[in-house]
Amino acid sequence: VIRYIYGLPAHDVTRDFFFNVGDTFGITKWGVVVLFAGSFAVFAFTIIWKMFIWARGRHAELPGIYDFRVFAAIKGLFLPKDFIREWYSGIIQIAFVYGFAAIILCTAAVAVQEYISFLFFGHRFLTGYVYIIWSLLSDLSALLVLLGLAMAVFRRWVLKPSRLKTTMGDAIILGLVFVIISSGLLANGLRIAVNGYPNFELWSPASFILALPFWFINPDYLLPVHFVVWWGHILSECMLIAFAGSYTIGHFPVLLMNVYSSPVQPEDGSQTWRLSIVNEEDIASGRKGAEIIDDFTWKGLMDLDACIECGRCQDTCPAFLADLPLSPKKMITDLRFCMDEHNLFANGEPRPGEVKDYVSAGELWSCTHCGACMETCPAKIDHVQKVVDMRRSFSSRGDIPAGVCTHWNNVREKGNPSGADESKRGSWMSAKSVVPTLAENADVEYLFFAGCSTAFDSETMNAANAFLQLLKNAGVTVGVLGTEEHCCGDFALRTGNEELFRDLAISNLKNFTRYGVKKIVTICPHGFNVLRKEYRDLAEQLDDGPVHGRYEVIHHTQLIASLIAQGRITFKGAPSSVVMFSDPCFIGRYNNVYDEPRNALRAVPGVTLVEAARSKEKALCCGGPLAMAKAPANRIGEFRARDVHMSGARIAVTGCPQCRKMIQGGLKELGIDNIRTVDIAEFILESSGS
Ligand code: SF4
Ligand code: SF4
Repeated sequence: VIRYIYGLPAHDVTRDFFFNVGDTFGITKWGVVVLFAGSFAVFAFTIIWKMFIWARGRHAELPGIYDFRVFAAIKGLFLPKDFIREWYSGIIQIAFVYGFAAIILCTAAVAVQEYISFLFFGHRFLTGYVYIIWSLLSDLSALLVLLGLAMAVFRRWVLKPSRLKTTMGDAIILGLVFVIISSGLLANGLRIAVNGYPNFELWSPASFILALPFWFINPDYLLPVHFVVWWGHILSECMLIAFAGSYTIGHFPVLLMNVYSSPVQPEDGSQTWRLSIVNEEDIASGRKGAEIIDDFTWKGLMDLDACIECGRCQDTCPAFLADLPLSPKKMITDLRFCMDEHNLFANGEPRPGEVKDYVSAGELWSCTHCGACMETCPAKIDHVQKVVDMRRSFSSRGDIPAGVCTHWNNVREKGNPSGADESKRGSWMSAKSVVPTLAENADVEYLFFAGCSTAFDSETMNAANAFLQLLKNAGVTVGVLGTEEHCCGDFALRTGNEELFRDLAISNLKNFTRYGVKKIVTICPHGFNVLRKEYRDLAEQLDDGPVHGRYEVIHHTQLIASLIAQGRITFKGAPSSVVMFSDPCFIGRYNNVYDEPRNALRAVPGVTLVEAARSKEKALCCGGPLAMAKAPANRIGEFRARDVHMSGARIAVTGCPQCRKMIQGGLKELGIDNIRTVDIAEFILESSGS
């Protein structure tokens, strides 16, 4: 067919890959190998040097080789989440990743042909149909990279989003990519022109178009130009490979390594984010979080080099949005400066870099741990663990907000954060909702872990009572710990008091084990998350018999949805209402519970469910954890309240005591009085016919 179409035997439908570069004795051919080998050596040296620096960090598990993380990393690279939710940067990533992947494939095919197949077997396979497909793929991938490049340049120099800081390094790297791609296409176009525009070269469409303006020029004049352009292409490629371990571009290979080294997301879609728990050894050695840069784990240090400074974390950070002194991007890049300025070779001696010289207390205490930064970060950087590690060291020096201090003291001395009378912890149940304590009857399906909020806050008490009533009406057996329950310790853990957390968690775990608890349900998303993750890690670490973490944890929104689905909660006719559900960070972003609360609300007759512009994984934090620390969180609450208002809802349904308070407060600040906030349990109980 090839002969029929082009009047040539298939083996003549090809190109000389070393055309016009003086390769009579193979000098160019092997010279190119030496140049590329040298460039890869520089790249490898840079990465190994970085690895030595990371290795100074503390121990962390090494990623397994034979699990699914390779597929997870490849999926993250080739199917970026941003393609859907941030189309502009998604297209740039697709263009660069797919374009460069195809270019690497095409170059590898040439290397295999020239240095293996032809050298050892005298056979060239890039001929006929294979050559035609190869030519088309080469040109299209080059065009794809040029598209990504044009969009990246437009964004950095014309759109100039505030989250992106463009440096000279960025300009050099983008310029280098342009030189590589355009010189490759031009060298090919000049070769086509010199060879008299063979028909089959139309399969290199971009190169062929570039060749057209040269048709009237004597080929003898084109040959030296081709020679220069061809070498320009090779040398710029070598430069890019050599630089691929350093400067801005150097973060891309580390980003891939970091994604590979990150825990693989479970199939239920929940995040693997969990805070490390201090162990006996650390307590004995008096280690207190991250005081110097090497106190982070090696993975924590690798995180710093993996940041490509895209600024997505900053855009989604509620603290940054509310003008609090925190930008997660700045925090990561400042810590990188700290690592770089105190690296192996700085001033001849590695000097410990103190993190307090690079990150301020104001930055650390502005974080709500909402996880929005981590959810959006393409490099899978763990910001929250770093914040907590640094808080641990700051608090050990007494650099701690007064509100946090009061909270800890109240929990330590009185047993609860508000300093209320602890003997009243078990007195929140109303006559209608009262259920036994486990001491009275441990033979129940669920333990309702009430939490401090239920025990001491009147509004949460009402929600918890409504929930217990729903369970009783649905015939679910449930018990409570009453005065045997202790604060869950989540706030202590996240504010850096690991020892207080350990004491509280061990006391609760001992009760769970003593009563043989198999299923726990909570109303507070923070309790839900910490019981599900850090408690189990602690139980595993202790592994000493009196405690174990073999229990299931479910949030009340999930249990309500499941009872509705089973027909155990039914509804009476209800007036029509426009309702939205405000996703709490610790059930939504942290644990992928998005559908259940919405399914429950949709089941209520007369409900029209609307969404806030920022909902599900994009939902804005309410700022509750800052309010608990008596830090300025009002503006965050106002932002969330504005989201609620803009959704058009008349009822804001929440699944978290803190969200409810913050949204209520925000609506009040904004002077909006026609939106009611209510916990999902109260809303469902009001609407139910049982
Ligand atoms: S931390 Fe992640 S999201 Fe933030 S700038 Fe760096 S790479 Fe981008
Ligand atoms: S966890 Fe939330 S508040 Fe903290 S840095 Fe990330 S986005 Fe900002």
